[in-house]
Amino acid sequence: MMVCRSCGKEERASEGYPCVDCGTFICMICSFRGVTLCKVCQELRDEQSGDTGRK
Ligand SMILES: [Zn+2]
Ligand SMILES: [Zn+2]
Repeated sequence: MMVCRSCGKEERASEGYPCVDCGTFICMICSFRGVTLCKVCQELRDEQSGDTGRK
């Protein structure tokens, strides 16, 4: 079992995808919701894209 780094749920490693940035485990449910990044990478991206004028 692997722990999803986005929602914290435990899933089988075969039922998930790696974070596109760091390769950590993201479960299939999060992938269906459009999550491609783990919590840490998502927060980093939000910070980086927060003040580029995109609203
Ligand atoms: Zn998840
Ligand atoms: Zn990540």
